[in-house]
Amino acid sequence: MNSRDRVLIALDHEEPDQVPITDHMYMRKSLENVLGENGVTTDDSRRYLKACKTLGFDLITVFTSPPPFKPRSLDVEEEVDGWGRRWRVDKESDMLWYLGGPVKTREDYDRVRNRLVFPGDPGDMFVSAKKLVELTKGEYALAGMVDGPFTPSWEMMGFTEFCKSLYHDTSLVESLCGDFSRWNIEIGRRLIELGVDMIWIADDLGASTEPLVSPSMFRKHILPFLREEVNEFLIRDVKVILHSCGRVMQFMNDIIDTGIVGIHPLERSAGMNLKEMKDKYGDRLTLIGNVEGKSLIPYGSREEIKRDVLNCLKIGAPGGGYIFATDHSLHMGMPAEKIRYTFDLAKKYGEYPKKLVRHFDAAT
Ligand SMILES: [Zn+2]
Repeated sequence: MNSRDRVLIALDHEEPDQVPITDHMYMRKSLENVLGENGVTTDDSRRYLKACKTLGFDLITVFTSPPPFKPRSLDVEEEVDGWGRRWRVDKESDMLWYLGGPVKTREDYDRVRNRLVFPGDPGDMFVSAKKLVELTKGEYALAGMVDGPFTPSWEMMGFTEFCKSLYHDTSLVESLCGDFSRWNIEIGRRLIELGVDMIWIADDLGASTEPLVSPSMFRKHILPFLREEVNEFLIRDVKVILHSCGRVMQFMNDIIDTGIVGIHPLERSAGMNLKEMKDKYGDRLTLIGNVEGKSLIPYGSREEIKRDVLNCLKIGAPGGGYIFATDHSLHMGMPAEKIRYTFDLAKKYGEYPKKLVRHFDAAT
């Protein structure tokens, strides 16, 4: 059984030979950290794949490069992207921190909406994705990453203005969500043509204690556009999984109804409980993640990490429908040695069925 089979079987809620492994790893610093080499980015397909292999990933995320409009530098620490969103640039980590967007009113939107049409010539957006597919096809399960409609829409406005518009100008909210849904569909369509096995929609819908918008507003103004994206991918015969940080329990039935088959990352500090998720939704959703990455992997002892890894495997693995990962991504605060230890444990103890049972009994 190869990695691709392993993932697809787990997504079908059957037990493969061992629990599949994945994670999100996109920051230059974390890639360098894992690989012990300088200058590694997700655009560098060969070395990105090498980093994924180092940790034993079965499911590999396929990223696209930025669209062909250059960000404009405002000063050394600030830039504006092609849609007009402003970002603070952290040179140390290459991370962008959100500052604001260009839309406050319908007039602002009308001025910028031509930027939200997917370009006829996508430039280099798919070059590294194509290469990664060629390097891995058939051996690894590949998930093409696209945004959902919610996050880029509120980033065009700023979260406060977006929330106000949910009360006073819902057509503006829906115009933005529609534009981004169409944009994301264009990216996903091209990734599917390249040969990915599934689409991984990333849209953070939750804060640390509750959803970012009320369930009724989500269902009315955002969910239809998420559904539109999912439908476009499903008719192309690929699976769709969702990344959403935060506490999103209240949206789970809505998410399942769209046809999404997997949910990531089950953020522990936001109260996403793997046992509760397995009991309530484990027969309909593949659960991806939940190993505590915020403080445990950076600061915990090896024993504490082992206990957590075994506990996640014990709860998630039975019957399939679980993919091992941390509860967000591999970030630069995690020592490389601890990352390797975590994924080595998953490999060692994630084997179905004998080792799982034996070591679970020992761990509890
Ligand atoms: Zn997230």
